[in-house]
Amino acid sequence: MTALRTVSYGGGVQSTALLVLAATDRIDFSVFLFANVGDDSEYPGTLDYLHEHAMPYAREHGIELHELHRTRRDGTTETLYGRLTRPGSRSLPIPVRMSNGAPGRRSCTADFKIRVLHRWCREHGATAEQPATVAVGISIDEFERAHNRREEPAERVVYPLLDLRLSRADCAQIIRRAGLPIPPKSACWFCPFHRPATWAEMRRDEPALFARSVDLERLLNERRALLGKDPVYLTRFNMPLDQAIGTAQDTLPFPTDDITCDNGMCWS
Ligand code: SF4
Repeated sequence: MTALRTVSYGGGVQSTALLVLAATDRIDFSVFLFANVGDDSEYPGTLDYLHEHAMPYAREHGIELHELHRTRRDGTTETLYGRLTRPGSRSLPIPVRMSNGAPGRRSCTADFKIRVLHRWCREHGATAEQPATVAVGISIDEFERAHNRREEPAERVVYPLLDLRLSRADCAQIIRRAGLPIPPKSACWFCPFHRPATWAEMRRDEPALFARSVDLERLLNERRALLGKDPVYLTRFNMPLDQAIGTAQDTLPFPTDDITCDNGMCWS
């Protein structure tokens, strides 16, 4: 059996550029894996892009693009939002901000992305002796994110965008030239790694999603108060989201790129 060659597809600009490069034979990958952390958790625009653009494009070019979900032992799907909001849950798997603004420990990336991808690779023949090659979409302008994560025994991680010396702007151009729209940032809509500008844009452009984030933060803190624990927040400002974030102005004075799940691994 030949060794598996897969791409960890996060649904954002870099991994969509990898899709175009594979479709046009500039890189040798024909299996793309998207670990969906939950239809109720992923940014809705990412799922729309996946189904309306990425999947049809992949199909047209003979590329397999699999949408994977975390499943429990009984075969049911578990979502990240579901785990966060389960009645009585004490679990806090996302990198909420502590009172000093620093992100807390998280298990979301490992549980809902990395393990889901590894499981698929193992089920499809990857072993420590014959590891899967897993391509991750990191561009040269964020090269420090490469080699940031531990390799699993049954995988060998490669970075085709670094090999090709492509920047995020190059990736956007590759996508446009393929006739595809530029995908939105890919991350959970409630991710505490969002920059303030992203929250402000959400408040302005998607008020219902912003209101859900405010409600989620409140729910987490109601539960922590019952346990006698300090509050935690979705931003680094040590105050509730709706107090911390104003509405975005048309011209934002700060960069808008978040840490995202674009490479399928969040910031690991
Ligand atoms: S986007 Fe944020 S909340 Fe979602 S899995 Fe990644 S780190 Fe966790």
